[in-house]
Amino acid sequence: MLGLTSDNFNLLQKLSFLRAVNAVKVKCSFYYSKWIKSPVLNGFPISLTIEPTTACNLGCPECPSGLKQFSRPEGNIKQDFYKSIIDQVYHKSFYLNFYFQGEPYINPDFLEMVRYANQKNMYTATSTNAHFLNEENAKKTIESGLSRLTVSIDGTTQETYESYRKKGSLDKVLEGTKNVLKWKKELKSKTPYIIFQFLVVKPNEHQIEDAKQLANELGVDEIRFKTAQVYDFKHGNDLIPSIDKYARYKKQADGTYRLKNKMLNECWRMWSSCVVTWDGKIVPCCFDKDATHQLGDIQQDNIKTIWNSVGYNNFRKALLTDRQNIDICQNCTEGTKVWE
Ligand code: SF4
Repeated sequence: MLGLTSDNFNLLQKLSFLRAVNAVKVKCSFYYSKWIKSPVLNGFPISLTIEPTTACNLGCPECPSGLKQFSRPEGNIKQDFYKSIIDQVYHKSFYLNFYFQGEPYINPDFLEMVRYANQKNMYTATSTNAHFLNEENAKKTIESGLSRLTVSIDGTTQETYESYRKKGSLDKVLEGTKNVLKWKKELKSKTPYIIFQFLVVKPNEHQIEDAKQLANELGVDEIRFKTAQVYDFKHGNDLIPSIDKYARYKKQADGTYRLKNKMLNECWRMWSSCVVTWDGKIVPCCFDKDATHQLGDIQQDNIKTIWNSVGYNNFRKALLTDRQNIDICQNCTEGTKVWE
């Protein structure tokens, strides 16, 4: 089939009848809600993001984990609590993302949690800085059944890499990637689908072609170039790339910057997915890093109740009518279009 990767195929295989019906219901609810400008929701989240930990070994400048600047409690999700969440959702939700803030491999139970979701036939994805992918963890990663592994590689020389990934070692990233590739081959596994993710910022934009070549030489499945969100962009920022294609922001005639795309009063994520912090708070999306818009607490209520709660629907309503006034949504590329 044209354009269908082994990863897409793996994802499709997770679609049971119940999960497919749910996904269709959610999609229809989204379009109907946009049309009537009021939230209607008939269905359950298609995907869930669960935060394994808030801890991180690196110190990246645009990340609260790296900067140790959280205003919320920090910790690792406990395995029993995690399992109780999966047991609530797996009949209808099928995509599980193990990444919000922090480096997932720091949680010692991380791969056990992947294994549990895999047993429930869920698609599992994570994103890592690859510093913990020694031989043992690489082998365990394959054995856990993880569907997709995204490795952050933001430079092809140590100097460039560490200009954003402060305290990071490019050699460790390469070694970790090689370990996973080796064990994938050794155990004759089709998964995980391995993606190099290159966050394009000004200090590394000259290495885009080198990164493609490196990905090719190592034999990863794909390389993706991602635009970077920067907090402080209005008066320019040294991280904003000069290559227009990779910049989220545009310089205006008066010298200030604005989002390149126009914000629309909509957001598919609020109908299709939710994010769970390590201690069970539900937040709208991964832009709410400090959990300032908590929509519920799984320690108090079940997910179904929270998903259909008045608070959640009020947030959806605000998005459909007045997105401009939601702070986290103002620097987000979801639900945007190019200015005419
Ligand atoms: S920040 Fe973006 S993804 Fe999150 S709720 Fe707002 S528009 Fe949606």
